Amino acid sequence: MSQIDLFSSEQDSRPSKLGHANIAYKTVGTILNITSGFMADYDYSLNPYSGCAFGCTYCYAAFFARDNEQKDTWGYWVNVKENALLLLKKFRSKPITGKTVYMSSVTDPYQPIERKIELTRDIVKELLNYHQPRLVVQTRSPLVTRDIDLFRRFNAVQINMTITTDSEKVRKVFEPMCPGNRSRLDAIKEVNGAGIDSCITMTPLLPIEDAHVFAKSLLETGISKFIIQPFHAERGKFTAGTRNEAKKLFNEFNWTKERYMEVENIIRQYIPDIGIGKEGFKPI
Ligand code: SF4
Repeated sequence: MSQIDLFSSEQDSRPSKLGHANIAYKTVGTILNITSGFMADYDYSLNPYSGCAFGCTYCYAAFFARDNEQKDTWGYWVNVKENALLLLKKFRSKPITGKTVYMSSVTDPYQPIERKIELTRDIVKELLNYHQPRLVVQTRSPLVTRDIDLFRRFNAVQINMTITTDSEKVRKVFEPMCPGNRSRLDAIKEVNGAGIDSCITMTPLLPIEDAHVFAKSLLETGISKFIIQPFHAERGKFTAGTRNEAKKLFNEFNWTKERYMEVENIIRQYIPDIGIGKEGFKPI
């Protein structure tokens, strides 16, 4: 069912809860936001949702939440921008062809609810058919493979999959509601195998069990573009949720600046040409 059908004729049956997350439907004023800060090299950021059901413990977007309640319940609420597609259609008269678009900066565009409502898919279709921007999609979800048929038809698109650790123990503490590491590696391998430019973003790189095995598993995807960014426990900010466990795990792994550098250097032995932080995130 398309977004339009869902939002016009079946509003009452729209889910208000999916798994652990409360879902709300909101009208917003704009869908293409002029970027600043870390994403300033892009023309626009595009967030089909606000909030995020993946609830990463370290998520910086949580700190931009509207109030303390939203901050403290990060991971347990998602707002669907129900007029997102209509807003984007308004740009048809002045297409954003060739502009750089980063989707998404403060949510994951492949939320669990996306499987049902296909909002991101409708947005990608609109961008494909009427705009052809230079699109970078950032996700932690294997659901991105669903839209391979659309990505294939872009003149310039790159899919970034975030993979932060080789340890399910670490993943479960820092990204408790995210898809597992293996499924993310398999998904980005599939996207890349379909001939779509792909990138693995280790942003941030969390404690690693075996840096050699991890680096090899990254290369086994067939991908040649990687970005890495540190997360230093001593400077890190955490949302509620598993905050205490996360801090404990950093200590257990002795995840200091020195240990991070050691791991990064091992990864570099396998992947010498690795993008770093903001520089690595430059538009395609
Ligand atoms: S997937 Fe991204 S937006 Fe969602 S909680 Fe994790 S870091 Fe934040």
